[in-house]
Amino acid sequence: MTSHLPANVRQAYPCWKCAALRAYYYGSLPYRLIYRRWAARQGRVPVVVLFYHRVADDGANGWTTHPATFARQIEWLRAHCDLVSLAEAQRRIGEGHRGRVSVCITFDDGYSENCQHALPLLIRDRIPCTYFVTLKNILDGTPFAHDVACGYPLTPNSLEQIRALAAAGIEIGSHTYSHVDLGAVQDRQQLRLEVLRPRDELQRLLGRPVRYFALPFGLRRNMSRAVFDLARQGGYAGVCSAYGAYNLVGEDPFHIRRVHADDDLIRLKNWVTLDPRKLWLQWQSPEIPPAEPTAVEPAEAAGVRREEWPTMCDGAVRGGWNG
Ligand SMILES: [Zn+2]
Repeated sequence: MTSHLPANVRQAYPCWKCAALRAYYYGSLPYRLIYRRWAARQGRVPVVVLFYHRVADDGANGWTTHPATFARQIEWLRAHCDLVSLAEAQRRIGEGHRGRVSVCITFDDGYSENCQHALPLLIRDRIPCTYFVTLKNILDGTPFAHDVACGYPLTPNSLEQIRALAAAGIEIGSHTYSHVDLGAVQDRQQLRLEVLRPRDELQRLLGRPVRYFALPFGLRRNMSRAVFDLARQGGYAGVCSAYGAYNLVGEDPFHIRRVHADDDLIRLKNWVTLDPRKLWLQWQSPEIPPAEPTAVEPAEAAGVRREEWPTMCDGAVRGGWNG
């Protein structure tokens, strides 16, 4: 429930569903505790990677979290979990972990309001965070197309904000150049423009490495083997999806599965304490894409040659590489 929220703030989850979920959560707590103890003894505690979009008090859309909810979630997570970086999460996925559940904080898209509440809180408390930005909107200041389509033309971060966040310890990741659905992109040149070029340009603009990539939309239908191959062989350390799954010990840590940190504490608790139903469903469903990349020609793996590119600023002025 979100009774602590102002009345004008939209709830991401209906009250009756929260009530049902609360009953399920508390009813299954003994099993969750037994499973976590068993997994800890075996060194097989799954890793949970959360993704947020926007933290603001206007309740503008279903992917906006109220600052009070965000603060409560972080407080609860600090008390019950290990808050770790994506790199540490990958190590724990690959090598196993015997302690508490490991949780990563990530954000997608790059909304200006995140600099008001959420990110200062994380920076103040030195909580690791990877912040995935869509470069075109950062550079030209235009709202994200998916927000415009929904009637919420919200303000993206500026490049100055991104630089300040990076300097304060927030890890900046790439979320494509123009937030395309990569599951629908067949053209390899366009894939390189959306996957590799923003990473290289962000590195140049920030003067520091950009190691991780997050798929726009992030559902299974928005993923492809070609994207994972290109990202892996192009030098990324990992690719984040967003279809709601745990990272099980022994899986390929290059593919980082994420969970939406909805605007309800009970849903967050349900995921982070290792929901037995979701674990069972994940065990029943084979993961995609395959762990090993297909062969990519060396020239493709190296990405697009810099001399072939317009500069990022050129691209912003002209309305983007693909425009
Ligand atoms: Zn996105």
